[in-house]
Amino acid sequence: MAEKIIMMTEQRGAAPVIPATPETPTGLLSDRLARPLRDLRISVTDRCNFRCVYCMPKAVFNSDYQYLPHKALLSFEEITRLARIFVAHGVEKIRLTGGEPLLRKDIEKLIAMLARLKTASGQPLDLTLTTNASLLARKAQALKDAGLQRVTVSLDALDNQTFRRMNDVDFDVRDVLQGLEQAHKVGLGPVKVNMVVKAGMNDQEILPMARYFRHSPFILRFIEYMDVGASNGWKMDEVLPSAQVVERIHAEFPLQALDANYSGETATRWRYADGGGEIGMISSVTQAFCGDCTRARLSTEGQLYTCLFASSGHDLRALLRDGHSDNAISGALAQLWRARADRYSELRTAQTALPQAEQRKVEMSYIGG
Ligand code: SAM
Ligand code: SF4
Ligand code: SF4
Repeated sequence: MAEKIIMMTEQRGAAPVIPATPETPTGLLSDRLARPLRDLRISVTDRCNFRCVYCMPKAVFNSDYQYLPHKALLSFEEITRLARIFVAHGVEKIRLTGGEPLLRKDIEKLIAMLARLKTASGQPLDLTLTTNASLLARKAQALKDAGLQRVTVSLDALDNQTFRRMNDVDFDVRDVLQGLEQAHKVGLGPVKVNMVVKAGMNDQEILPMARYFRHSPFILRFIEYMDVGASNGWKMDEVLPSAQVVERIHAEFPLQALDANYSGETATRWRYADGGGEIGMISSVTQAFCGDCTRARLSTEGQLYTCLFASSGHDLRALLRDGHSDNAISGALAQLWRARADRYSELRTAQTALPQAEQRKVEMSYIGG
């Protein structure tokens, strides 16, 4: 069968350099919708050893795809310097992501550098990482020793055939399960397990996943398939609303709703009535949570994105490499956050009327999930 060709508009590196007005951080930044800055997701590589159909489809991410050259990537020193400024502005939680973050050479050195940062109120950072777990069994201990607190593992099926179809590189599910166990064993818990549900592709795995992770130390979360990027050919009828996921599980294992742990939590929480543990639903499509969104994203090459669905970022790397002071970069960041009014998920309906390739959105593997 001939490979599908997907046309894409190149979005990387299109960001303007922003003016830098020096400012000392107060930890009290707030955007135009009164949302503080609390979370930072840092993409440490745009590369991945999987080709998940909903994220890096082979038709686009093939041998012709131009990944970023090494010199374009932020160095560990640059990442840590920016992270320190974000933390001074109120960030309390940092998540490393990608691409596949465990592919970045010496990632544990970066973790050790970030683990030394303290929040504006003097507390240790909440430092986590999202991974496909292909290298986790091997690396879990070193990550823990470096100061990582927790990991989130992406796992879309237990059935090997379905899992291999989802990752599209024939990766065996047993290796991911080993990584999960190892992460738990070395104390990188509570380990969360994220399953992206694509209707007609892996939704038959919802119940087997629920059964497998009940009465286990792992917290399973179901994610609605999202229209991120411009390459995954997203269609609304491939989204299985979380409400239906809850219904299917509830029919076999009765569920009770739980309150949110904190404001801004992306997942709604449920517990099994029989004490089998907790699950979460991330309903980015059917129940937008922009009103509480306190997340900023830093791309692999140092572009700041104030929304997962933004069409362009802001070039913080240029400020670093042009020799600006911390206070100048801090001023630029403050100015950008105060101007932020993003709420894409709440406005999605109007946008999705356009063909996906014409929507100017950046790839998730570039800015991180
Ligand atoms: N490679 C790592 C992994 O898969 O965990 C980290 C990066 S990945 C981009 C981060 C998260 O985004 C994963 O949990 C993945 O399942 C999710 N993701 C990617 N594309 C998505 C989409 N179209 N809809 C919903 N979630 C998606
Ligand atoms: Fe790679 Fe993660 Fe994207 Fe899958 S979801 S292709 S593992 S970056
Ligand atoms: Fe936050 Fe943008 Fe997602 Fe809304 S759409 S929750 S603003 S990242």
